[in-house]
Amino acid sequence: SSGCAATTAVMASLSSGDHVVCGDDVYGGTFRLFDKVFKRFGIETTFVDHTDLVATEKAFKTNTKVCWVETPTNPMLKVVDIAALANITHRTSGAIMVVDNTFATPALQLPLTMGADVVLHSTTKYLGGHSDVVGGVLVGNDAALKDRLAFLQNALGGTPGPMDCFLTLRGTKTLHLRMQRHVEN
Ligand SMILES: *Cc1c(COP(=O)(O)O)cnc(C)c1O
Repeated sequence: SSGCAATTAVMASLSSGDHVVCGDDVYGGTFRLFDKVFKRFGIETTFVDHTDLVATEKAFKTNTKVCWVETPTNPMLKVVDIAALANITHRTSGAIMVVDNTFATPALQLPLTMGADVVLHSTTKYLGGHSDVVGGVLVGNDAALKDRLAFLQNALGGTPGPMDCFLTLRGTKTLHLRMQRHVEN
């Protein structure tokens, strides 16, 4: 039902005592959710500059379950090396890597092909594209993970209305044209 609802579904798959490695420049609502809500439930987050791969690798702990990557970042537009970070995530922990691809959109960047486990989009932004709908989406390759996240989406109430889905699908039909123009601008 929103990008934040998609983030909530991923975070609610964790348990008290789990740890998250997150970029130091992420969407303000993502930071707020990690720092003001999930922290109270015993999920600890380390915020680290993901363009510094050495510092990022050092941030992983034995209980790290998610590496949360946003690229390009909102608001500073930092660009993170997704493939290198996926490599670090899978080599140093049993964690999954989640990429918030809201700013690039699937028209410009496909994190699943670079080693990400889950991709998040706030469809409120470029995907919807008309400032008349709010939504979010999670995309992945793993069927078991998909079932777990779909269960949580339904259980937590992050379900979009049919009109919202209709408006979001309308947005996707001009996405590639609009992104070309954004890039030119
Ligand atoms: C807006 C935004 C979100 C949150 O999306 P909402 O649909 O507004 O809840 C998440 N990530 C990024 C990068 C965003 O820009």
